[in-house]
Amino acid sequence: MSETNTPAAFSRRSLAAQALGHVDPITRGVVAPLHVATTFIRDPDNGYSSGFSYARPDNATVREAEAVLAMLEEAEAGALLFGSGMAAATAVFGALEPGDHVVAPNVMYWALKRWLREEGPRRGLAVDFVDAADGRALGQAVRPGRTRLVWIETPGNPLWTVTDIRAAAAIAHGAGARLAVDSTAASPVHTRPLTLGADLVMHSGTKILNGHSDVVAGVLAARSADPFWARIQAIRASGGAILGPFEAYLLMRSLRTLHLRAGAQAAGALALATRLRDHPHVARVLYPGLPEDPGHAVAARQMEGGFGYMLSIRVRGGEAAAIATAAAVHLWKRATSLGGVESLIEHRASVEGPGTPCPPDLLRLSTGIEDVSDLFADLDAALRAAHG
Ligand SMILES: *Cc1c(COP(=O)(O)O)cnc(C)c1O
Repeated sequence: MSETNTPAAFSRRSLAAQALGHVDPITRGVVAPLHVATTFIRDPDNGYSSGFSYARPDNATVREAEAVLAMLEEAEAGALLFGSGMAAATAVFGALEPGDHVVAPNVMYWALKRWLREEGPRRGLAVDFVDAADGRALGQAVRPGRTRLVWIETPGNPLWTVTDIRAAAAIAHGAGARLAVDSTAASPVHTRPLTLGADLVMHSGTKILNGHSDVVAGVLAARSADPFWARIQAIRASGGAILGPFEAYLLMRSLRTLHLRAGAQAAGALALATRLRDHPHVARVLYPGLPEDPGHAVAARQMEGGFGYMLSIRVRGGEAAAIATAAAVHLWKRATSLGGVESLIEHRASVEGPGTPCPPDLLRLSTGIEDVSDLFADLDAALRAAHG
């Protein structure tokens, strides 16, 4: 259909920079056109030889971005784009059957944990939450023959706990279950769960994949084109959860610079973690890139090129001092979300509310691409102001 480079011949970074080297067959343009049509003309023989009939199940611009994402994740079965990370994640749980058992982590994206607690039982799912970073606890939580899905998130929001993907895959497969990994905080630059034994990988595309805080999107990618993956595809098509073409176009533009952004943001996060560790008003820094972090050894094994753009700090003086610090920054933006080029700070416990594993003195930091010395100076001044 169009000219593309041979994926095997070049690095993922090179392929992403050129969106797989697509050349538009009509204009010879180096950027794929944006496909907005919702309906397509039938052939004289009543078929649809283009492969497109209606835009709810499928869209050519969405497919272009999905091809780049599948390449980045080394996903043999391909990738699917959804209207949000939550739409992608809930499609996986929607593909399970009533009575299925699910194991999920204590430390995970809060809105998805709430969804599993509130909506899981209504769909007949039995969900157990465990300390997934503890391999023994994970091994004891699966019920052979009944557990159908083990869901992990690594590094896990907002404590950035690290789960061993290989070990979790062995436990899940030993019990006859699939392993799905929310890899939003790692990005495919630093971790590719499918190459470590996972069956499915999920991203909030809203975060570093798009990286410019102007698109809400979700991604699933799969290792094998099995009936479970076919069911997820059917759920997206019939439920109408596909990403819109404009959003897919913006996301694809962002994926071209993903390696640059992820590398710079991870380097910034490590530099900040290293400097904040010695700060008089910081009790603890949570970042798997620090050698003393409990997740460092596993992270060093399963992450490459950095440890991600997310870290948290525990502020001396408790909740009031943490909130006062978040109120006193100027360069950092006091907002939710993560992964954008602008750095964000958030007091997480007040967002998550009762039952959260997030300590009240914790501030979540999403590192952008500003000068690290400016980011540190701004946070340092805010910490000092909050401590009078
Ligand atoms: C944001 C986020 C989600 C949800 O994604 P949306 O695009 O907001 O629906 C899921 N997991 C993690 C780790 C996230 O940060």
